[in-house]
Amino acid sequence: MKRFSTSFIVGLLIGLLLLASAAFAGNPVKLFVNGQEIQPDVPPQIIDGRVMVPARFVAEPLGARVEWFGATSTVYITTPQEAFTPVEAPQITGPDNFVKVIQGALKLGQEKDLLAYAWIASNLKEIKFETNPAPGFETSGAYINKETKTCYVVSDHFNDVISESSISEASLLYLGVLAHETSHICLKEAGFEYVLNEDDEEVVCNLAGLRVMEKAGGTNSDKPVWFFKELIKKDLKL
Ligand SMILES: [Zn+2]
Repeated sequence: MKRFSTSFIVGLLIGLLLLASAAFAGNPVKLFVNGQEIQPDVPPQIIDGRVMVPARFVAEPLGARVEWFGATSTVYITTPQEAFTPVEAPQITGPDNFVKVIQGALKLGQEKDLLAYAWIASNLKEIKFETNPAPGFETSGAYINKETKTCYVVSDHFNDVISESSISEASLLYLGVLAHETSHICLKEAGFEYVLNEDDEEVVCNLAGLRVMEKAGGTNSDKPVWFFKELIKKDLKL
């Protein structure tokens, strides 16, 4: 986010002061913002050796919004959030139907929950169809290498999913799965692996997955939502 930085304003004022001191007395003070001459309704004035410029005429050309609240005699200057910086999409490696489902998952995130999408896409480097899963993950749906930030989708599980779901259901499910695996990375980076046991961590990651699916439009009547809720209940031992 761009901030209307104090140092920038100070720099601007110093610049204006220099400009003013160089100006001959009586000459009007000129105001330039990003090379563009601005002519405020009230011209800049030198008062007690300082150049006074109407805030609106400096702030607005820099993209800020200026509001005056008469009741409290307050000026509010706010900058809009910087335009969303596109993040590079993770590489998707696998057969065509896999690529299609995962692309569908990412697209769903992009359309319905851009922040969740950015969170996933900036944390995962690669999403890989895995026919030879690492020991211990043979019956998992997916797992993550937190160092390389590779998400492995276990082929047997994927094939089961697409044999009994539509492409859009599968995409919703894998959006939840990607959010789940992204959570593992973030929990590790935040040091939570030292305070959460494995089951607790699964609950947290599944809650994140569920939340992202729900924000993407998933409801209780969608199988993937039901599936995640069952996983959460199981790990909470409800
Ligand atoms: Zn997990």
